[in-house]
Amino acid sequence: MSTIAENVEAIRADIREVSQASGRSDLPRLVGVTKTRSLEDVRALILAGVDHLAENRWESWHERLLAFPGNLWPSIFWHFIGPIQGRALKRFYRPLFCIESLDNLSHGTALSRLALESGAPQSVLLEVNVCRAPGRTGVLPENLFPEIEALAALPGLRLEGLMVMGPIPGDAKSPSSSEVFGEGNALFQEARRLIPSMGTLSMGMSEDYREAIRWGSTEVRIGRSLFEGMLR
Ligand SMILES: *Cc1c(COP(=O)(O)O)cnc(C)c1O
Repeated sequence: MSTIAENVEAIRADIREVSQASGRSDLPRLVGVTKTRSLEDVRALILAGVDHLAENRWESWHERLLAFPGNLWPSIFWHFIGPIQGRALKRFYRPLFCIESLDNLSHGTALSRLALESGAPQSVLLEVNVCRAPGRTGVLPENLFPEIEALAALPGLRLEGLMVMGPIPGDAKSPSSSEVFGEGNALFQEARRLIPSMGTLSMGMSEDYREAIRWGSTEVRIGRSLFEGMLR
């Protein structure tokens, strides 16, 4: 089995290759998704040079922060990619690099208040449910623009872009990853006409990051392939 450091190297090389092959001159950021992994594995990922990390539960993120405190690990940038859930948010919120899973105005309002209390502006992405899969979070595409305008007006928040999940693997009713990421890209371009400072389009996981990069993703969120080796 390959080591985590070898996996990181292989994924980085692949991200470069796919980006170049699709005619891009920029490189999407690699965010390592550490949810459910052991501290040892997370440490190995950090030592292999992955400095942007993501968790999907507030309580787990809080535990990570205790294990890797900011004063000892100043160059780790934390992302939050899970359900916002008001109560856990209130209990465990501390300013972090980016909250990618903002999905409605009431969560936005709660976050705005917490960010103002903390004294630091909080970067957020708005999650769009392009697949329309029931049970998935995110705003539906037809509600996106009113939601963006409302969120952009909240003090304490910086709306930096959009987050899109690919289709559910193996679900015959889902659109293809190319359709989903293509629509994600189109919505992002339109959103930027409204808010030109938006620079982040977070799309792509272990299963589908290549397709996401071809559709202009500026950030891929990868867990499995970093810890268990590349999927082919
Ligand atoms: C788990 C998760 C990922 C990473 O998925 P892998 O298949 O492990 O690469 C990315 N984004 C979100 C929102 C997730 O919950």
